[in-house]
Amino acid sequence: MSINTTSSKSIGRLENILVIGSGGRENSLAWAIQKNELVKKVYLIPGNAGSERITKCERIKIDIDNKIELVQKLYFLKIDLVVIGPEIPLANGLADFLRKKDFKVFGPDKDGAKLEYSKSWAKEFMRDANIPTANFWKVNSLQEASKVINSSSHLLVVKADGLASGKGVFVPDSKDECLKAAETIFNGRFGESGNTVVLEEKIEGPEVSVFALCDGKKYVLLPNAQDHKRLKEKDKGPNTGGMGAYSPTPLLTEDYLNKINQEIIEPTIDELNKKNIDYKGVIYFGLMITTSGPKVIEYNCRFGDPECQTIMPLLDQNFVLLLEKCSMGKLTGKEKIVASDKVSGCVIATSKGYPLEYKTGFPIKIGKIDTTDCQIFDSGTCFNRNDELVTDGGRVLSVVCQGRDFDIVFEKAYKNLKEINFEGIYFRNDIGHQVRTKNCRG
Ligand code: AMP
Repeated sequence: MSINTTSSKSIGRLENILVIGSGGRENSLAWAIQKNELVKKVYLIPGNAGSERITKCERIKIDIDNKIELVQKLYFLKIDLVVIGPEIPLANGLADFLRKKDFKVFGPDKDGAKLEYSKSWAKEFMRDANIPTANFWKVNSLQEASKVINSSSHLLVVKADGLASGKGVFVPDSKDECLKAAETIFNGRFGESGNTVVLEEKIEGPEVSVFALCDGKKYVLLPNAQDHKRLKEKDKGPNTGGMGAYSPTPLLTEDYLNKINQEIIEPTIDELNKKNIDYKGVIYFGLMITTSGPKVIEYNCRFGDPECQTIMPLLDQNFVLLLEKCSMGKLTGKEKIVASDKVSGCVIATSKGYPLEYKTGFPIKIGKIDTTDCQIFDSGTCFNRNDELVTDGGRVLSVVCQGRDFDIVFEKAYKNLKEINFEGIYFRNDIGHQVRTKNCRG
């Protein structure tokens, strides 16, 4: 049942869309964008093997750091809207550059991306705006870090300031582990990203992901989600990029979402404006629901992966129009964007050994998939010399399903996963355990 009330008219031409990035997130964005009949073509730079299965999609082989070649190609392809998926090009100022060349871009400029690429800056930003977050200390040497850790009555979480592919955060269980984590970072494990370290009070509670599409002044919320970061079942083992997710989370009632809007989202947008940051893109709020209310754990300047794959199938064909409105500063803030009253769940299949060392190049066999309300979005795949689909990353693909309830969703996801095989395939069997009443194993 559709409850969409978004205008179905585009502001400008929306025939040729470009999505930058190579993962499951970008494939799901491209898939959601191509649903709109105004869209003729979705180009991906570079995309992956799975991009080629998506209707209207075509991959472009070009180095985005070669700016002259990139701009020439985009003019040639008559690109109407650029959607930048990952944080690194945003942190490197790709959105700024393309805007200066008159492209409509969904994705913040470098100043907005700082919410993600400097954790200390983001913490100071939150302090300035009175946004609830864990107490913190910013330190520039191991000596300074040791002083704070030894004198603190709390256990402290240790974070490299800069981008570290999701690996720069240590959540220790003892002071000794805190000190070791600080030593690891200051010894250069993350290069310049670890020149500054943020020490944070360890707080507790379930984590939720909230996404605001923002046009610089106004915003609309996407369905929220919960992801599973740990490798092993029962949420144990090392942190990963994400092993699965579900949307929406029953934890966020309408009242609680209002509280989040008032205490966190609106103050964030206001503070961006105060700092003259014209943020046109998605703001990802990683929140912890503590006994004293919601607190921001982190900001990201892009969609989460695998939350993006989970949420995209819940949206209707007007999603791309919202991206366009954001890129042009034309949101009304009243758009309703959920197209489905279904729920969605996603399970990620990884290579053996991920998130540490793993091998790639194993052929992927896909059997008989029940495709009703089910999508497979590739994260790390390519074609080998014989044109076979093979593994090409730690996270290989995601199986995403929708249904009336989470039992239906995950039963279908795990049934479909039985039809997918490659050497060393691994996935958690308990994704969505918080919202399922039945166990269903792959
Ligand atoms: P981040 O990259 O900052 O989101 O951190 C990665 C993960 O570390 C989060 O998803 C949390 O599970 C955990 N974490 C980060 N900061 C804290 C904190 N202050 N207290 C407890 N856990 C945290």
